[in-house]
Amino acid sequence: MGDMVVVRKEGLYCVPGDFYIDPWRPVDRAVITHAHGDHARWGHRHYLASSKSVNILKSRLGADINIDGLEYGERIARNGVTISLHPAGHVLGSAQIRMEHQGEIWVASGDYKVGPDSTCAPFEPVRCHTFITESTFGLPIYRWDPQQDVFDDINAWWRANADAGRASILYGYSFGKAQRLLSGLDSSIGPIVCHGAVEPLNRVYREGGVDLPATQLVSETDKADFKRAIVLAPPSASGSTWTRRFGDYSDAFASGWMLLRGARRRRGVDRGFVLSDHADWPGLLEAIRATEAQQVIVTHGSIPVLVRWLCQIGLDAKGFDTEYGDEDDAAVDAAPKPADGDAAAEAQPALAAPAASDEEEDEDRREGAQPAPGNAGGKEASDA
Ligand SMILES: [Zn+2]
Ligand SMILES: [Zn+2]
Repeated sequence: MGDMVVVRKEGLYCVPGDFYIDPWRPVDRAVITHAHGDHARWGHRHYLASSKSVNILKSRLGADINIDGLEYGERIARNGVTISLHPAGHVLGSAQIRMEHQGEIWVASGDYKVGPDSTCAPFEPVRCHTFITESTFGLPIYRWDPQQDVFDDINAWWRANADAGRASILYGYSFGKAQRLLSGLDSSIGPIVCHGAVEPLNRVYREGGVDLPATQLVSETDKADFKRAIVLAPPSASGSTWTRRFGDYSDAFASGWMLLRGARRRRGVDRGFVLSDHADWPGLLEAIRATEAQQVIVTHGSIPVLVRWLCQIGLDAKGFDTEYGDEDDAAVDAAPKPADGDAAAEAQPALAAPAASDEEEDEDRREGAQPAPGNAGGKEASDA
């Protein structure tokens, strides 16, 4: 039997089912893993996504898109392929796509993480013959600290700034990262203020049943209150004139890339908090193992390293060349159009910050990582 999923110029294509997974060019039938801009694009004739993704996709791509929602675990058939969606633990509504055809089972992960996140359903391992996995942080150097440690660091930084009478501006991707950050903030420290690109997504999360602390827009906040406030804003607002209204401030960026030497400096912020919505290296290996898949296909990220590692542990592994990116890049964050007037007004002066170029990211990867198969832990392993 040939591969159930192949790469075409439009995107990942399920051959017997005649549909695409997160296609990057317009197609008739698209099944969407989640609403980040590099996975959910405009122009498809029909969309299928998890029920919790439907409102997010409509707010990002337009209320008039032709879309059906599926509950997690619910099954539908397309040309003899049974499709079901299962939580990916990445952002609200994120799903792995399970495809079953004549007894053969393939699962496409989309983006995922295995760590805790109270703002979305946790990653569910799905047994399959072939697992298509992302590898954004697929190098042994990537190991995340416990989420609570990161939240404690963020709250301590915010409290110190508030005590010194200066605002705290925290940059993070407006869909997913911002809400996860919100879920960890200690609102007894001061008011939580959100950029106009973030607040509409908070609303969608709350409507989806996610408990978030109270937030307010910049325009609803007294200037005097900024001194104790934390402001959540997308990376594109960094270095723009938009930040001037807060007077004296300290700023920080929350991303998995903050683990890399030089990444914080290039962002030009005071602090970097290492918090990612992607699996780290142990998380990728744990997730892959849990599927019990014998064949693994690796997409966006560190394809050669992860493929080589998986082959060494006896799996049949290869890479797929895709056009998925990384939502922590300012360029990707800038993609969604404002969902309402507030967003348009507040996001307006947000000039794009100079994002790390691909070349610089590559440099970082070389700098930090010398992955050697057979020594997966790198230097961390010897510390452990
Ligand atoms: Zn994503
Ligand atoms: Zn992605």
